[in-house]
Amino acid sequence: MTPIRSCLALCLLWCGSAALQAQPVPANEATEATRAAQREQLARMPMADTRSFDDARRGLIEPLGDAVIPAPGGRPAWSLRGYEFLSKEAAPDTVHPGLWRHARANMGNGLFKVTDRLYQLRGFDISNMTVIEGDSGLIVIDPLITTEVAQAAMALYFKHRPKKPVVAVIYSHSHADHFGGVRGVVDGADVAAGKVKVIAPAGFMEEAVGENVMVGQAMTRRALFQFGPLLPRGERGQVDAGLGKTTSFGTVTLIAPTQLIEKPVERHRIDGIDITFELTPGAEAPAEMIMHYPQLRVLNMTEIATQNFHNLLPMRGALVRDALAWSRYLGSALQRYAGDSEVMIAQHNWPVWGRERVQDFLVKQRDAYKYLHDQTVRLINHGYVGSEIADMIRMPPSLEQEWSTHFFYGNLKHNVKAIYQRYLGYYDGNPANLDALPPAPAARKLIEYMGGAEAVLKKAREDYARGEYRWVAQVASHLVFADPANVAARRLNADALEQLAYQSESATARNAYLQGASELRHGAPRLPTITTASADVVRALPLDMFFDFMAVRLNGDKALGKRLVLEWRFTDTRQDVVLNLDNSALTHVVGARAARPDATLLLTRATLDEIAQQKTTFPAALSSGAIKVEGDPSKLLLLLSMIDTFPGMFPVIEPRPAP
Ligand SMILES: [Zn+2]
Repeated sequence: MTPIRSCLALCLLWCGSAALQAQPVPANEATEATRAAQREQLARMPMADTRSFDDARRGLIEPLGDAVIPAPGGRPAWSLRGYEFLSKEAAPDTVHPGLWRHARANMGNGLFKVTDRLYQLRGFDISNMTVIEGDSGLIVIDPLITTEVAQAAMALYFKHRPKKPVVAVIYSHSHADHFGGVRGVVDGADVAAGKVKVIAPAGFMEEAVGENVMVGQAMTRRALFQFGPLLPRGERGQVDAGLGKTTSFGTVTLIAPTQLIEKPVERHRIDGIDITFELTPGAEAPAEMIMHYPQLRVLNMTEIATQNFHNLLPMRGALVRDALAWSRYLGSALQRYAGDSEVMIAQHNWPVWGRERVQDFLVKQRDAYKYLHDQTVRLINHGYVGSEIADMIRMPPSLEQEWSTHFFYGNLKHNVKAIYQRYLGYYDGNPANLDALPPAPAARKLIEYMGGAEAVLKKAREDYARGEYRWVAQVASHLVFADPANVAARRLNADALEQLAYQSESATARNAYLQGASELRHGAPRLPTITTASADVVRALPLDMFFDFMAVRLNGDKALGKRLVLEWRFTDTRQDVVLNLDNSALTHVVGARAARPDATLLLTRATLDEIAQQKTTFPAALSSGAIKVEGDPSKLLLLLSMIDTFPGMFPVIEPRPAP
């Protein structure tokens, strides 16, 4: 049994491409309709504003280039190889001209001097590592996703700068692309000995290990669409991920913070560097903070402001984020720090130099989130539903002319629907949709009412020729859900998704469309089974979360009529848990003992962690004596027999096969 198999999510959500097979390049060229759409887009873009390229190159000391950073097992942890096609200035007609420009600017890579005492390593991963030179040592902010790339980044830094010890690590927030490489930067023993501080925002550990656990399996599957790690790099494939090129693949680690920032604003002097921390929870991440370094006159907006409009709801799925709070944090940063900042950095993309430009940047970011929020809510109160509002809202020209508020990572329409969801939920208020048929039976009826598959295909092909790709993708998807063996429908669905991808300014939407097209043409990818969840993350998982996740794997039908009380005693951590099965629901209490348990299990937390990492199983631990049972050992086996194993690759673009 593998109770927290979905900790893999932390790896697969953020790790990526190199381990997985490349899929065949999509075949189609841009249609005339797509070429016309690109020309129209191009005419509206501020192409004359090329400052992003200057900013992305400024201060470069040495590039990483196309070096390959290896991971254990010989697979590359990271390489920018394959992105050479982005050296062309003019966008091909298979890539939105705004996204092309952004994808080119994101190619800035290597060691950069931002200002005296502050350096950034960019293009080693989807995120940036920032290094501040303190009086005696180094302060490292956000050590990337994996130890391999973090080590390579530090090596490049030390090639050009004095070899001083790392005295502090700061995690800006709880997402894995901002902590996973920590053991590549510092030794856990040095942290334990108090030689290195690890500083993080309040709630960091709970969120870092918790965000991807409960629905991790589904998020992992959906993340393949958002990040496109399986797509080939190229003009008809993956070009960018908005926040950076893509994610590294390697060893994800975690060292718990030794110091939490808990007040809304805290000021600390760390190795001679004054840092004002300001918490920004509930916007980009549940636990996050920005920083101001007054002596350096640098504002670090971490991931609250990057060079694009962010996600209010990532396509992999997440709790929806708060656009209003996000805008408020941007306004607060503008008010408090912008006047005293000559440069603004972030933990993705490139910096902005000059006090006035920093102020202007923050004004536009603040207003972009506020505009989208307020106009969506206004239209909600006029009675429009999410899909209607998404078609009605356009950013004002003053923001369209600002590259940094474009939707290269987030997606305007998806963000509008996220705001709707935050306030009103999935239901649009029309009772006809309260108990609508699910996709497959609805599609079968719909196609039958429309005169059958052949008649629908004929009309859909005519609409495709007219460039009506949104509708063709929608109706062809009904054809596929009515009959997944309809090859002509699958091809047409894929063709329409591909043209939508080419026209999409959002890198994540492009990836989603292209992944959908690929699966329609070639089926869902078969991924190698990865058996090792990150040991650090598993160890850090609170017992509550472990048993909550076990409970969501209980098969309610198999548990009908069964009753069970199991007492768990963790002999090393001296924690007790009572697990209770009744009414097909598994509940637990941490810190309690049962009056009359069916069985008492004696084990160590280390054994539980090994099971979670799939290094052993409950039955194997029982027979080896790693788990000792007082009472009836068959009761644990009974429980295990009712626990589901989740499929890694469930169908998304087609119905599941009949049982
Ligand atoms: Zn990030």
